[in-house]
Amino acid sequence: MREHVLVVLPHPDDESFGVAGTIALKRKEGIPVTYACLTLGEMGRNMGSPLFANREVLPLIRKRELEDACRAMDIEDLRMLGMRDKTLEFEDIELFADRIQELIEEIKPSLVVTFYPEHGVHPDHDATGRAVIHAIKRLPADERPLTYCMAITKNREEVLGEANVIIDIREVAGVKLEALKAHRSQTEGLIKEMEKKYQEQDAGIMSWLFEQEIFWTYKWD
Ligand SMILES: [Zn+2]
Repeated sequence: MREHVLVVLPHPDDESFGVAGTIALKRKEGIPVTYACLTLGEMGRNMGSPLFANREVLPLIRKRELEDACRAMDIEDLRMLGMRDKTLEFEDIELFADRIQELIEEIKPSLVVTFYPEHGVHPDHDATGRAVIHAIKRLPADERPLTYCMAITKNREEVLGEANVIIDIREVAGVKLEALKAHRSQTEGLIKEMEKKYQEQDAGIMSWLFEQEIFWTYKWD
């Protein structure tokens, strides 16, 4: 089967934290990856550490950072959907799903990556997951692409069970680091902290980010 990955996430940097390694591995295999990034994270409160952005220029900065991150991950097909940051939960679910459905019909993905609804910790994350699942549910059961969901709630194992997809990303950890660094306004402080922990040989954060990525395949009912 012809493979094509569709990643649908609301904010620039969601992909770099959660799925950059998986994307890099797919790209190494020559599999096309389309990333639909719904907003520019323009309502974000991080303005760089040290500060270099402000409310007016933040969307422009984050757009450029997103493009840089995509270059780092070798994503050629970036779609910026221009939805409004921190408002996705108020979108009409049918209209929201229509937009995702359009993408799915065009791309015919073999794999979709998004947030697990109600396990995204942020209203935009949950709204995105709900809309993506709603769009895929419109397809007949045997035509639905495999769907990997990121779950980041504390009670995720209690509710969803163990993650059933565990991807070893160590060989592309460098790509993930570059992608994260590209989102400079959001991650510069974190990267500094990480480098310090690395020097102190605190392996915790390194293994969380750079050794594996885990997903829950969506359970259709
Ligand atoms: Zn986010």
